[in-house]
Amino acid sequence: MSYPVTLIPGDGIGAEVTAAMRRVVDATGVRIEWEVQEAGAAVIEAYGTPLPEHVLESIRRNRVGIKGPVTTPIGTGFRSVNVALRKALDLYANLRPARSIPGVASRYEDIDLVIVRENTEGLYAGIEHDVIPDMAAESIRIITRPATERIVRFAFEYARANGRKQVTAVHKANILKATDGLFLRVAQQVAAQYPDIAFNDRIVDNCCMQLVQRPHEYDVLVLPNLFGDIVSDLCSGLVGGLGVAPGANIGKDIAVFEPVHGSAPKYAGQNKVNPTATILSGALMLRHLSEREAALRIESAVTKVIAEGQYVTYDLKAERDDPSAVGTQEMADAIIAAL
Ligand code: NAD
Repeated sequence: MSYPVTLIPGDGIGAEVTAAMRRVVDATGVRIEWEVQEAGAAVIEAYGTPLPEHVLESIRRNRVGIKGPVTTPIGTGFRSVNVALRKALDLYANLRPARSIPGVASRYEDIDLVIVRENTEGLYAGIEHDVIPDMAAESIRIITRPATERIVRFAFEYARANGRKQVTAVHKANILKATDGLFLRVAQQVAAQYPDIAFNDRIVDNCCMQLVQRPHEYDVLVLPNLFGDIVSDLCSGLVGGLGVAPGANIGKDIAVFEPVHGSAPKYAGQNKVNPTATILSGALMLRHLSEREAALRIESAVTKVIAEGQYVTYDLKAERDDPSAVGTQEMADAIIAAL
């Protein structure tokens, strides 16, 4: 039995981290038919768009994809391929676990948080325009009952299926009374249908402060799009940074896995960055494919290599210029050896 999976390497450091992930997943013995599809700035000339229809078709056909990061021009240029892909495939839930890994230097040792970010609307609806060029601009923030209901339900179902005890809805309903007021109201209504899971809510700024000071008070967090993006990076900072933070975009029938981090262009082509976030995204993918044992083996191998601290990339060393740091592919080799 083999699983067809669409693989989008992305750009910047994407090719390196996805190559490492692919070798590790293949080394588990699970047979994946990798269908490699390119997206991003490099394909615009050939297809007139950074996200060609045949790439979406491939994911629709295979129902499972994994991707490296894709660069988005800042301030101008084409819209984010990552946001467009989530929207086009209705991958409404962005799941970002943040769990401490022994051996990774960080403020706390036993963090185990799950961020559930709404992925299709909020400020990322991308409805923006100049009101007066160079003087005033406007962005429309969309929050709807159906999208809120399904993301909060996703958070509770995830909590139930994974033995979690509490869901926190994070919002700014004191200021954004219409949009986040609706988000909070719907969250409370959905929560009432899950009496076995504790529910509370927090205003996003207070939540950020508490996450830094008392992260253990939290368990599963559910947030509108922009807050989810920001708070999930904050949580990855609590467990050692973007190099170790995996993620998944999940829809009704389709799932696309990807690290939380971006394309880190300044490190592209240097075989330098940490492949862990993408490798752990590969493990999340294997879980999704019901290959739980292979996923566990990858997670244990990653933990072992990091705990030993020898074959790890620069970001996991106490000093960032430690000459004993290994490269992306060498760390993947060590993980394969530890499988
Ligand atoms: P980034 O995540 O690319 O990099 C920020 C910093 O984090 C890097 O300079 C590096 O120090 C560190 N870092 C990131 N990945 C790492 C890894 N694997 N190992 C070790 N250190 C790592 O964020 P950015 O600089 O804000 O964004 C760069 C580009 O990536 C932008 O074009 C942005 O739009 C895009 N981006 C894409 C995605 C995605 O594809 N899903 C997500 C975020 C950002």
